[in-house]
Amino acid sequence: DRIARKRDREFSEFRERIKDADQFKVEASVFDDATYGALYKLVQDGHIDAFGGPISTGKEANVYTALSGDTEVAVKVYRINASDFKDMRSYLDGDPRFEGIGSDKKKVVTAWVRKESSNLKRARRAGVRTPEPIAVERNVLVMEYLGTEEGRSKRLSEVHIENPETAYEVVKEYTRRLYDAGLVHGDLSEYNIVFHEGQLYIIDLGQAVTIHHPNADDFLERDCRNVANFFARQGVDATPEDLLAYVREY
Ligand code: ATP
Ligand code: MN
Repeated sequence: DRIARKRDREFSEFRERIKDADQFKVEASVFDDATYGALYKLVQDGHIDAFGGPISTGKEANVYTALSGDTEVAVKVYRINASDFKDMRSYLDGDPRFEGIGSDKKKVVTAWVRKESSNLKRARRAGVRTPEPIAVERNVLVMEYLGTEEGRSKRLSEVHIENPETAYEVVKEYTRRLYDAGLVHGDLSEYNIVFHEGQLYIIDLGQAVTIHHPNADDFLERDCRNVANFFARQGVDATPEDLLAYVREY
């Protein structure tokens, strides 16, 4: 009971803290009206109750924490104007889910966000740990937050890996499961793998393509190269060729 009260108090302090986070306001001032609209809709629909601070400001998207009820969530906001939509458009090629999407910039970005969400779902169904997608609105994706109140969980590039052999086995298996489910991540590396609660999670599946994509093989080779070379540097007996063969064998 005392513990529950303490938790409630900590939680309301936390809620106040993120409600007051001016960092979000500062960041938010760069959003366009449509993005405000999307965020507002997510609040109205009950997916977001209070905004937190930024976790990451990337080239094309910013990631924030937010509260949904008493659960912390991650909110990834694609900045429509910062998006290299010609490049984004090319990642939709050959994807039967997004046929005939055209080349209108806003449509491409919103298709991209829906693709990220459906890729996360597909990966999870295939037995790959990824953040659970919660809601999509235009250029905004709400998903499960990997972290604690102390902050986001770290990327593989940021942690000391106790047992690199085991970690490599897991990533190998994930890469194969994704491929078996018809997906190639396309940006797989130690920067898009997160160590959370003792498990590895694959993140950032926006650019992931289906195996129908004209460059799917090239992307898979690059993913295998990034992953194998990273683990080789950790002392694991890993080569891009072996990994590629493992992923493709059935
Ligand atoms: P980059 O261009 O840096 O690869 P990005 O804009 O493509 O980034 P992500 O890789 O999806 O976006 O997210 C950027 C960073 O935000 C991640 O490296 C991770 O640290 C953090 N992050 C993303 N999603 C989550 C999440 N669901 N929970 C916790 N942290 C997250
Ligand atoms: Mn990333």
